[in-house]
Amino acid sequence: MDLLLVGAGHTHLHLVRQPEQLVTAGYRVRLLSPPTFHYSGVASAAAIGDISPGLGQIDVAALATNSGVRHYSGVLAGINLDERYAIADDGTELAFDVICFNIGSVTAPGSMEVDASVLRVKPLSNLSTLQERLRGPLPVSGSLVTVVGGGSSGLELAAHLATRPDVAQVHLLEAGSHLGPDLPQGARRRVERLLSSRGVRVRTNCEVMHLAETSTRCADGTVIGHDLAVLATGLEAPSLVTHLGLGDHDGIPVRATLQHRDYDHVYAAGDCAHFLPHPLTKIGVHGVRQGPVLQASLLARVRGDPLPTYVPQTRALSVLDLGAGLGLAVRGRRWWLGRSALMLKRWIDRRWLRQYGAG
Ligand SMILES: Cc1cc2nc3c(=O)[nH]c(=O)nc-3n(C[C@H](O)[C@H](O)[C@H](O)COP(=O)(O)OP(=O)(O)OC[C@H]3O[C@@H](n4cnc5c(N)ncnc54)[C@H](O)[C@@H]3O)c2cc1C
Repeated sequence: MDLLLVGAGHTHLHLVRQPEQLVTAGYRVRLLSPPTFHYSGVASAAAIGDISPGLGQIDVAALATNSGVRHYSGVLAGINLDERYAIADDGTELAFDVICFNIGSVTAPGSMEVDASVLRVKPLSNLSTLQERLRGPLPVSGSLVTVVGGGSSGLELAAHLATRPDVAQVHLLEAGSHLGPDLPQGARRRVERLLSSRGVRVRTNCEVMHLAETSTRCADGTVIGHDLAVLATGLEAPSLVTHLGLGDHDGIPVRATLQHRDYDHVYAAGDCAHFLPHPLTKIGVHGVRQGPVLQASLLARVRGDPLPTYVPQTRALSVLDLGAGLGLAVRGRRWWLGRSALMLKRWIDRRWLRQYGAG
């Protein structure tokens, strides 16, 4: 039975690292993905140069080769669900009996007009060009950077950028009435104080209409100049999902079994999936926890057993990396900000990365 894994996100990495049970059950496991995976947990620190960029990258091609999974380097371009074959961007046709998607997300600009020069935080391969962009032909007095979006990634990046000696000023613009809408109120206030102490100019209730190469225009007519703009306005499924007719910008609609709403042989996990039982935040932890569920489901379908379901945790620990050695740890309404929070994050991230030969 041909199993085609599309994308080497968190869920598929779990399967690729240990495909033995799937192979024993009768699957021929194949993976279509770019050769390198960029890990989001250390993405801000790597982009800014706090840690070496290599620490957050997994060599997917080597991982697959070492575990006997046939890897096709590239991205999916098309699919024929009736005849059950996928088409890679180089034209290679890959037959499948079961296909699984774990292709992540992209930055969602909403109705904003965004110039091509703007740095979008996702895919993370974009973010890894940040240092290069800051070293470009920018003023020696330090560059002006505008970050649009006051959610987790916008906060991380604004806080990090403000610590760089070659950045003269950071503007952080948020359309809502406050930053970090998912943070407990006390944590939010603490982060606001930190940003202020680092000289970040925060503007809330600021809806950006046009993000151009050298300026930002807000709905109230304000224009803010910059040398570099970073778009961090939240995540949505890649346009490929809509293009393939499998879903929309919310993602590929899946049941609790991670199977497509309409097709039993199509699975999706992580950010590219729209989990129908209830909405899930686009965070890596779901992709990680869905790995064992997807694996068990693939084994159960061969045996004719009932398929397992994904039950999301009600409260998960998340830690923001705020630069200069500080982290903000949040679990439910509990939080703490300090060096120990970042040390905990680094420990969790490295432990996860090491399983895949990185970190
Ligand atoms: C700056 C930043 C920091 C973040 N920090 C955290 C954090 O600390 N903790 C956390 O939980 N979440 C964090 N997130 C969110 C996190 O990035 C996502 O929720 C997580 O990466 C989703 O995992 P995934 O496995 O679904 O997809 P991804 O990790 O995005 O992996 C998808 C893979 O599929 C590949 N792919 C894409 N398109 C195709 C295609 N057409 N064909 C084949 N392959 C394809 C991609 O190259 C990628 O390697 C952060 C996000 C950002 C932007």
